[in-house]
This record gives sequence, C-alpha cells and structure tokens, in this order.
Amino acid sequence: MPSFEGRPPAIAGRLAAVRERIEAAAERVGRDPASIAVIAVSKRKPVEDIVAAYEAGQRDFGENYVQEFAAKSELLPPLDDARFHFIGKLQSNKAGKAAGLFSTIHTLDSSKLARRLDRFGKPLEVFLEVKLSAEESKSGMDPGLLGAVLEDVAAASNLRLAGLMTMPPWNADPEHARPYFRHLRELAERHGIGGLSMGMSHDLEVAIEEGATHLRVGTAIFGPRDPLPG
Ligand SMILES: *Cc1c(COP(=O)(O)O)cnc(C)c1O
Repeated sequence: MPSFEGRPPAIAGRLAAVRERIEAAAERVGRDPASIAVIAVSKRKPVEDIVAAYEAGQRDFGENYVQEFAAKSELLPPLDDARFHFIGKLQSNKAGKAAGLFSTIHTLDSSKLARRLDRFGKPLEVFLEVKLSAEESKSGMDPGLLGAVLEDVAAASNLRLAGLMTMPPWNADPEHARPYFRHLRELAERHGIGGLSMGMSHDLEVAIEEGATHLRVGTAIFGPRDPLPG
C-alpha cells in the first residue's frame, strides 16, 4: 500500500514558506504580493499532491505534459475554482487536446499554434513564450516574431493575451536569470503587455524584483521530482 502520510502537511508547510518568500521579496521592491500569482507545478507528481495543495488553498496548477495531465485529470476529484496551466513544450498536433484540458497556455510560440488553439473553440488565456538565450534546447519564439504572433492572438476570437513567458538557461545561481527576466519585462513594456510568467523555485525572488506576475513553482512546493525514466 503506498502511503501518502506526511505528504499533505509537508506540502502545506512548503506552500506557506513559498508565500513568505514572495511576501518578503515583494516588500523589498514595494510590490503588492497579491499581484503575484503562484502556479504550483505538479508535473510528475501524483494527484494526491495536487489535492493536498488545493486543500491548503492553492488554486493554480501547472503541468508540462498533455498525456500525463490527461491521465491525472481522470483521477482528480472535482476541485472548484482550480485552474490548470499548460507550461510545457506544446506540439501543434496536441494543441486541441491541450485546449480542452487547460485554461491557460504559457508556451504559445508560433502563429501555427495560435491558429490551432483558436480553432478548438474554447476561450483560452495565453502567454507568448519568448526565447531570449541562444541555447538550442529551449523552446519559445524569436523576439523578432513577437509582433506578428501578437497580431494573430488579437485576431483570434478565442484567445486572450495574458502576457509573456520565458525560461532562462538553467543555472543554480539565481542572479544568472536576472538579465533574461529584465529583457522579458522590457519587451512586454514595449508592446504594452502587463503579464510576466517568469521565475521558478530557485529564482523567484529575482523574478519578483524584475516584475514577475506569474511564478511557476514546482520543487519548492511539492519537493524534488523523480528523475525522468530512460
Ligand atoms: C518544471 C518547470 C517549472 C518549475 O520548476 P521548479 O524548479 O521545480 O520550481 C517552471 N517552469 C517550467 C516551464 C517548468 O518546466
């Protein structure tokens, strides 16, 4: 029998610690902590963990894999007011399925994907993912394409622009993320966009200092993830 004993209190405690970190960072730069949303990233974590976080007051959840969340959503009890955000790499052939499962897509990075998501016919909030590093493995659009994709989103009847998103190259030192976060904020200001999805467990303070409105926090809430198989 797998035991989930100890999990709910651990998750509630870690959520409280994350909220304290957010309040402290927001206070340092004179921001209202209520203007900063936390998306609890539950990828590769069981539904019991999502329920435990929900019971501790968490309402926004992030998932990276369409198939994984399709399976988990079958097992989830009804969670009133919970919102599920897709934050992983989205293949356009999975766009329809993702549109059905999620309320918000953080990784819209092409005109093609915008059309596919719009075609599903369900109102969706979208963040445009921008690639700000030369690193090959990272997804996201070239910043030069932003204007065109913004027009596609404005023309789409079912998509509402929520903001921009970026994912800096991994580095244990959170200060390494600062120039990427700052660049994203400058891009957003230039286009008159308010939402900024940036900052994870280890660099959320820097993200808040640079203007993040949506933090995507996994490990600091749910604990370390098992390594990917293979
Ligand atoms: C996994 C993931 C996160 C959360 O990362 P943690 O370091 O566990 O907080 C945030 N954003 C994206 C896009 C992710 O894939």
